[in-house]
Amino acid sequence: MNALAATSRNFKQAAKLLGLDSKLERSLLIPFREIKVECTIPKDDGTLASFVGFRVQHDNARGPMKGGIRYHPEVDPDEVNALAQLMTWKTAVANIPYGGAKGGIGCAPEQLSVSELERLTRVFTQKIHDLIGIHTDVPAPDMGTNPQTMAWILDEYSKFHGYSPAVVTGKPIDLGGSLGRDAATGRGVLFAIQALLEEYGKSISDQRFAIQGFGNVGSWAAQLISEAGGKVVAVSDVSGAVKNDSGLDIQKLLKHSLESRGVKGFSGGHALNQNSVLIEDCDVLIPAALGGVINRENANDIRAKFIIEAANHPTDPEADEFQILSKKGVIILPDIFANSGGVTVSYFEWVQNIQGFMWDEEKVNSELKNYMIKGFKDVKDMCKTHNCDLRMGAFTLGINRVARATVLRGWEA
Ligand code: GLU
Repeated sequence: MNALAATSRNFKQAAKLLGLDSKLERSLLIPFREIKVECTIPKDDGTLASFVGFRVQHDNARGPMKGGIRYHPEVDPDEVNALAQLMTWKTAVANIPYGGAKGGIGCAPEQLSVSELERLTRVFTQKIHDLIGIHTDVPAPDMGTNPQTMAWILDEYSKFHGYSPAVVTGKPIDLGGSLGRDAATGRGVLFAIQALLEEYGKSISDQRFAIQGFGNVGSWAAQLISEAGGKVVAVSDVSGAVKNDSGLDIQKLLKHSLESRGVKGFSGGHALNQNSVLIEDCDVLIPAALGGVINRENANDIRAKFIIEAANHPTDPEADEFQILSKKGVIILPDIFANSGGVTVSYFEWVQNIQGFMWDEEKVNSELKNYMIKGFKDVKDMCKTHNCDLRMGAFTLGINRVARATVLRGWEA
């Protein structure tokens, strides 16, 4: 099922639980604005290359729209639309004063040189600069983009509007980025797992973890989980997968992955079939890469008791079509809560930029912990109210907050 169909299906199920008025439901589902632009750049060899860039601004009832910009070959309008919608519910679940947006360029960033990436980012910013802004839409990094990408957007945007660091988050520290932003999604995942395990009388140190994805989110999650005493038994990335039943040495794996551009060939474990990381024998499975990876084909073979969705929409609703996962008693902590640590610290970064004041890392991390603990409690309360699972608890929580703000603001033209 494509990402938009999957997200809309979750939305509709939650709207039904909330008894949402059907007209309001329709208005919440339709994006505020969809932008599609042509981005042509001269390549280093002098030839031209054309790409398509998107920004979908889904909803702004609760504040400026917020969400990442993704550089990936699979970026398409439906996918960006779905991810923008997820951002609306995510910022509402986290209870930060934002709406939701997402952007992307259909490209393979590893096939472009640094100067080609810079030109592409600048052209994209020129095309959308009038439609983003500190109080309208604030981009951030996502898959295939990083603090350097944000620095280029900030620089290009500032040529038109004056120096405006708060127009993007996830910036380099030297340009007003927040301490702790780099690790924030992974750290949020750690706090989310701690809150969930506590519910079941368990702790990180008695669990075995398998992690799919060793990029920014997966590698930070692995590092923080192993520092907290958890045993990370399997890790995969685009290069391959490694496994060690007595626990991988994550520091050494990080070093290897930096030097060899991937986890493949790591000597502190044995090689594993890339896809079998998802069906490894473990207690906690953390998909931290692409969407739709847990689906009808592999749901039956999942052996984890807990799935923590560090990626956006990693579980296709069809995986649970016949309650394959729920019948097995698998507990899923949904993306719009589990990976909300990134956008939460983006919010702290924006606040610091607006105040012209920098927090120390301890303050960032302890505020993040407070938000994650409160978010988990709010999701659980919705689960009790609506007698539903954690995904529907999170969706009903987010949608209800956005619906209330929408009704309060009204529609009078
Ligand atoms: N790209 C991240 C996400 O999907 C972070 C977005 C942000 O910080 O605005 O949540």
